[in-house]
Amino acid sequence: MPDPVLLLILVAAIGIGWWLGRMERKHYRYRQRTLSGQHLSRDYFVGLNFLLNEQPDRAIETFVQALEVNGDTIDTHIALGNLFRMRGETDRAVRIHQNLLARPVLTTQQSEQVQLELARDFMRLGVLDRAERLLDGLVRQCENEQTATAAKHLMVDLFEREKDWQAALNVALPQLAKQDESLKRAAAHWHCELAEQNIEEGSPGPARRHLKQALSIDSACVRANWIYADIEHRAGSYRNEIRALRRIRDQDSDMVPITLAPIQRAFDLLDDEQGLIDFLHDQLEKSPYVSFVLLLAERLRTRDGLEHATRLVSEQLQRHPSLRGIDYLMDLYLKEVPEHELEHLRLLKRHTEQLMAQRARYRCKSCGFQGEQLYWHCPSCRQWGAIKPITGLEGE
Ligand SMILES: [Zn+2]
Repeated sequence: MPDPVLLLILVAAIGIGWWLGRMERKHYRYRQRTLSGQHLSRDYFVGLNFLLNEQPDRAIETFVQALEVNGDTIDTHIALGNLFRMRGETDRAVRIHQNLLARPVLTTQQSEQVQLELARDFMRLGVLDRAERLLDGLVRQCENEQTATAAKHLMVDLFEREKDWQAALNVALPQLAKQDESLKRAAAHWHCELAEQNIEEGSPGPARRHLKQALSIDSACVRANWIYADIEHRAGSYRNEIRALRRIRDQDSDMVPITLAPIQRAFDLLDDEQGLIDFLHDQLEKSPYVSFVLLLAERLRTRDGLEHATRLVSEQLQRHPSLRGIDYLMDLYLKEVPEHELEHLRLLKRHTEQLMAQRARYRCKSCGFQGEQLYWHCPSCRQWGAIKPITGLEGE
């Protein structure tokens, strides 16, 4: 069982204990010790016993039964419902929260709190329309500011799951995103999503407007320039495409490796070999990623001969060791070594190829998710813009 869950059960147990103690004192004062009071105490200790014997299911069940719903215990009931949700027993959480909502003893603030938790239950169950109805009501007319903000965050999460980007933007902007950096980053990506939809529909004008908004919300949004480059490419403006891709270097140097393939393609379409070679030399001065080294080496090999390529890769490998660099260097050696030495080199190359085959190219900076493909939205932790190319000896 995860620690937060255990902690919550303990907090709930303490809360119940305090409430029962208070009840006991009242009974003592009025000399009205009732059988029900003793019964509640017994239930409480039975629950505690289950907890100490590491039987949390039975402990929670006993606590729920032992505790009468009233103004003093409402928070504990909410917490117990949340516990069930955290343990994956969301149906039970819904039953507890719905049962609470039907009680007339609830104040407006308590009722709002229960509605919020019920919305969380529905979201966990994937019943998004019911969650949306509850959240919509809370966002419109919630008295407690904290609950209203939590409802807005949930609403954003819900619209994101439904891929309703405009609706998510409407809730998050401008207030909510101001206080939350990750939400700001997300909002820029929602504009990018809308821009991509525009491009699909053949409307580059509205797409550009969305990209401009994305950059005004988050000037470090690499994806906005990535999509600008795509628009320019589709329009045949390859110089502008290169310009947009080069802007990514100023935004986030970690993302530079993704720009290599389209930049190479654009220079080739412009038939500008010297332009590409100058660009690569310039790039290596600033951030010598192995993909750039290998492309430059390959172009130099074609233009100036094998020796130039070998020298470049050897020099770069001394400064920045890289598995892919070693593998490429072996390719170059294979082209010139005598026949009787080929076998050893081929064997070595098989090893480097195997090592490289097992490596992912991208990793999420937030949760560590790894993959072959670049996702703007991490499929594991759902952070936007957190996945980056892997660098170092085994990566770029
Ligand atoms: Zn992640």
